Amino acid sequence: MAITVEGLTRSYGPLTAVSDLSFSVGPGEIVGLLGPNGAGKTTTLRVLAGILKPSSGRVAIGGDDIVTQPIEAKKRLAFMPDEPHLFEYLTVEEHLRLVARLYSVPDLDARARTLLDELELTGKERSLPGELSRGMRQKVVIACGLVRDPSVLLFDEPLTGLDPIGIRRMRETIVRRGTAGAAVLVSSHLLHLVEEVCTRIVIMNQGRKVADGSVAELAARADLAQAGSTLEQIFLTMTGRRHDERPG
Ligand code: ATP
Repeated sequence: MAITVEGLTRSYGPLTAVSDLSFSVGPGEIVGLLGPNGAGKTTTLRVLAGILKPSSGRVAIGGDDIVTQPIEAKKRLAFMPDEPHLFEYLTVEEHLRLVARLYSVPDLDARARTLLDELELTGKERSLPGELSRGMRQKVVIACGLVRDPSVLLFDEPLTGLDPIGIRRMRETIVRRGTAGAAVLVSSHLLHLVEEVCTRIVIMNQGRKVADGSVAELAARADLAQAGSTLEQIFLTMTGRRHDERPG
């Protein structure tokens, strides 16, 4: 498996943000990580990326444990966080050059051109982050992740701040990487987009996994038979939000 999560628990002091979470993502799978605010999605992605250590349990990337073999594991993955952090004094092109040097990326020029075109950043090569819009900065972070062609992609809210064309392009980018064999885990609140691009869904609620499967599999589950067959209906039922929606 490209991503294996086994019994992962992560606490912040007395608060357990992720509790006994297990799931896996195989090559070519695009898995949507869903859940209400505070469900533990970002915490999970940060543990998978090696930024936070698990309190207990295990995470392996391409078979390498993220805690005990961090270099091997991190070489395979790219984490695209929702907050775009960039070097204020490096241009877009210099960001890509830096990443290419760090990860020994071959033929950077051709790759950079394709990526900048794919992400609609052509013409901004010489811009500093301060001269870019928020959506453009988000795209630069994503370009830095994609330029080294990782086999595991972790996206935290990749569509936040993107315009409609940007959202469509990002959707195509994610699908293209999955089709090319990457294992993709993507957290998003945009359920209709998740439904379109993801081959499987993992729903979290209060730190725990409450559902794992394709939309069709989840809709066929006995306990969800009354929920309806859209991802939104399944999401609302699995996260206990159904009642909030009903008047009275
Ligand atoms: P959202 O959809 O709002 O982004 P999320 O599912 O990504 O939410 P997390 O950011 O993982 O949720 O947060 C899970 C829980 O952990 C929340 O209760 C949050 O307050 C808590 N938490 C997150 N980061 C920290 C931190 N650095 N210190 C203490 N508690 C934290």
